[in-house]
Amino acid sequence: MQTDIGYFEEGQLGKTYDVKLLKRMVPFIRPFTKTIFWSVMLVVCITLLDLALPYATKVAIDRYIVPKAETAAENSSAGPKTNTRWITADLDRADVRAVVGNHPDLFELKGSQALIKLADLERLDKREIAVIRQNDIRGLGYISALFLAVIVLDFIFNFFQKLIMQYTGQMIMHNLRMRLFTHIQSLSMAFFTRNPVGRLVTRVTNDVQNMDELFTSVITFIFKDLFLLFGIGVVLIVLNWKLALATFAVMPIVFVATAIFSVKARDIFRILRIKIAEINTRFAETIGGIKVIQLFRNETDNYRQFEKLNHENYLAGMRQIRVLGLFLPAVEVLGVLATAIVIYYGGGETLAGTLSLGSLVAFISYMKMFFRPIRDLAEKYNILQNAMASAERIFLILDSRSRLPLPAPDDREHQLAKIETIDLDNVFFHYVADEPVLQAIDLTINAGETLGVVGPTGSGKTTLVNLLARFYDPSSGQVRLNGRDLRGYDPQAFRSKMALVMQDPFLFSETVRKNIFRADGHMTPAEMDTILKMSNCEAVIDRLPDGPETVLSEGGASISSGERQLISIARAFARNPQLILFDEATSYIDTETEIKIQDAMEKLMSGRTSVIVAHRLSTVRHADRIIVLNRGRIVETGSHEELMDRRGFYYHLHQVQV
Ligand code: ADP
Ligand code: MG
Repeated sequence: MQTDIGYFEEGQLGKTYDVKLLKRMVPFIRPFTKTIFWSVMLVVCITLLDLALPYATKVAIDRYIVPKAETAAENSSAGPKTNTRWITADLDRADVRAVVGNHPDLFELKGSQALIKLADLERLDKREIAVIRQNDIRGLGYISALFLAVIVLDFIFNFFQKLIMQYTGQMIMHNLRMRLFTHIQSLSMAFFTRNPVGRLVTRVTNDVQNMDELFTSVITFIFKDLFLLFGIGVVLIVLNWKLALATFAVMPIVFVATAIFSVKARDIFRILRIKIAEINTRFAETIGGIKVIQLFRNETDNYRQFEKLNHENYLAGMRQIRVLGLFLPAVEVLGVLATAIVIYYGGGETLAGTLSLGSLVAFISYMKMFFRPIRDLAEKYNILQNAMASAERIFLILDSRSRLPLPAPDDREHQLAKIETIDLDNVFFHYVADEPVLQAIDLTINAGETLGVVGPTGSGKTTLVNLLARFYDPSSGQVRLNGRDLRGYDPQAFRSKMALVMQDPFLFSETVRKNIFRADGHMTPAEMDTILKMSNCEAVIDRLPDGPETVLSEGGASISSGERQLISIARAFARNPQLILFDEATSYIDTETEIKIQDAMEKLMSGRTSVIVAHRLSTVRHADRIIVLNRGRIVETGSHEELMDRRGFYYHLHQVQV
């Protein structure tokens, strides 16, 4: 198994992150426009509620705790003009009248109301104050209730907003993953030779996850935090535009700091990502190749390489921390600076009576709210970076059109009743341009025939099998089935009529039964037993702890390669194929199992067309016809006896092996 995580392409990515990528996400987002709309509406409500809290505090202070100072009113004609804070009480209440009667010198009467200076309140006793200020106390009660209501609403709205946003993110992720999965599953072998397993796995898991965070976290940020920033700005200006402008004096510094941060952070985040991918790769390779490493005593060397990578990752991590460590406190300092401006400048205005105490307190609260989203920016930025890189990689896969060309639906030969003949007509093939693997192959395989294919390693035997199964199309020439180009068939139509037994068969981590009778749910238990018996699998299955229900661990590692091969032959049997391809089916096997496999193979081949690729000549000895491949060309054809008599290439191979 290849274990590369695909970091080498990371270097080129992340440079072009632009509107184009966002545009490409639109089709994935569009189905959720409604839910996103509701989420944004909720965000607007939440922001308004959040904005309301400091304002409610201001009202509580200004109206009920420390009333606004008023320039001496006309009813107190005497004395110089001073700023006085007045407390008002209603005279139509008996208890108020009693208190007023006790201190006639402190109160001024004005219509049905009695006024007392805030400073004079302390000359009343506690109980009297409570009577005089009962309106204010009630008002505070209302505001507290309002606070509570706002918090409860905030909670409810937040809950639904999160729910909707997470739902949307999950759905988008779900759809994206399905798209990727279907796409990858439909790609041709050529794609899989280019793209290592590890990289593809990362795409479907990590990268999709990153995109989800983009939707849930960054979109929320844009709507919530930016809206909040804007809202606070407006409220501050309405409260006191001069003070607002004074505090905004720190804004240019905030912008500069953010700009510097984003430039620096971007590079570092990218380096960090590459390092993490490299670490993953090294780790995956170590696990995949642990036998080789231990056998060749490569641990120290491998350890050093990992240590180096790990150290580089640490250095990148430290750089990130330095940048974050500068940025976060810098924003903090700027926030405190802005608060200091509010306290100094605003406090001065409060003293001068041009700014109410409540407004000052509200200003300070808003300042705190203002700098929190800016600080979060750092985190959001990281997520955005990751998501963009992931999006780019996901689209890279979705863009790859490396599929075998399919015939137009109405052109497809759906009805393929029987495989009569297979012809290869002047077939050339190369995986890599200018490196021909098969050259000028002319070959006809007739129904019921057994064809042996022999040749030295690398002569193109497996490639020939790949062409017969149409994992690849020939570079030139034609592979014909019943006289018709293989490309004219729906691959599923003819693949359902063939079986392939490979050198190193792949078994899924499912039960043995499922592995063998994969798509053939219609089989009766008796038929299944026959197949197991024919393929000499019974002994293997009896040995397993749960019989046919034993779950094989990944790759079938829990059974020997011979047993695995027997199971894969049973799997071929279960398909009841007309054409069967063996690619070095007995290469890895001990003699005793080989005899069993040979026996099973012979039963499987009887009455069927078969192609046996073999390294060992004894395997193909009884084939009707044997072709000998060398360097991609057919050098000899004939039965075993004919080829032996000819004393050519086959004869020499034979001499070497015996
Ligand atoms: P055989 O099965 O006879 O040992 P193969 O058909 O597997 O030989 O390979 C024939 C040649 O094609 C070899 O030189 C091999 O290196 C090359 N080859 C096989 N698979 C690929 C591939 N996916 N990409 C590039 N070259 C390949
Ligand atoms: Mg091979």
